[in-house]
Amino acid sequence: MNAQPRSVAGIVTPQSVLEGAGVRLKRSMPLSRLDYLDPFLLFDHFGSDNPADYIQGFPMHPHRGIETVTYMLEGVVNHRDSLGNAGSIEAGDVQWMTSGRGILHEEMPQPRDGKMAGFQLWVNLPAKLKMTKPRYQDVAAARIPEVVRPDGARVRVVAGSVEGVGGAVREIFADPTYLDVVLPAAGTFEQPVPAGHTALLYVYGGQVRLGRAGHDEGPEVAATHLAILGDGDFVHVHAGPGGARFLLLSAQPLHEPAVRWGPFVMNTREEVAQAIQELRDGTFIKR
Ligand code: FE
Repeated sequence: MNAQPRSVAGIVTPQSVLEGAGVRLKRSMPLSRLDYLDPFLLFDHFGSDNPADYIQGFPMHPHRGIETVTYMLEGVVNHRDSLGNAGSIEAGDVQWMTSGRGILHEEMPQPRDGKMAGFQLWVNLPAKLKMTKPRYQDVAAARIPEVVRPDGARVRVVAGSVEGVGGAVREIFADPTYLDVVLPAAGTFEQPVPAGHTALLYVYGGQVRLGRAGHDEGPEVAATHLAILGDGDFVHVHAGPGGARFLLLSAQPLHEPAVRWGPFVMNTREEVAQAIQELRDGTFIKR
């Protein structure tokens, strides 16, 4: 069997939503037509030159049963949580937070030089890890490897591996790939993605087409849109005349029931009801 390229199976136009205490963001998932791309539960793109769009932030709120991945392009997010952790996610940094059995935290965006932009992804946890101990992988920008190719493509390897360079975030159950790719005009990028893994491309600058070397097929995907990729063994991306910036996300699907209630994602309604009850009782946080 020849290796098969992945094509564009669907293009999602993000919707403008208000979250937290009034943070305006572009949401690609969940939307009424796209609830879940196993194991990805949520994908938000935030950013504005107007602090009024985000300065109220995300005051104390719980999470259980998921991982939240915050990757910043500009500005900073100050965070602190119920377990005593506190810190700042600066431009180029990533925070991969495994909520497991539960945390309460706040996330407060702040501008730097008037700018703030980034992404938050939620990754589902398998049943056996839903109640695991909470864990953080906070990775500073300087520790995220960057692969620079002869043709000018630059790839920051947040998770996964590119040309033998391993990503900064490791030991995540879903075996995720999280790449931030910058392509020059008409530049190309090719990356193996295991067959059967869910894969997404979020274009946030310029435009791309997918196909195989010399045969770019399918629709153009322009900023800012999320492309859902069909199955295959690799992704071949060709940038348009203005170049492109995009995230490539992939992971192994769980194939388990997912019951979602806001920041809790469990396997059954009873488990969600228990989380809500524990939050009311004050027994949500387990040391
Ligand atoms: Fe949160």
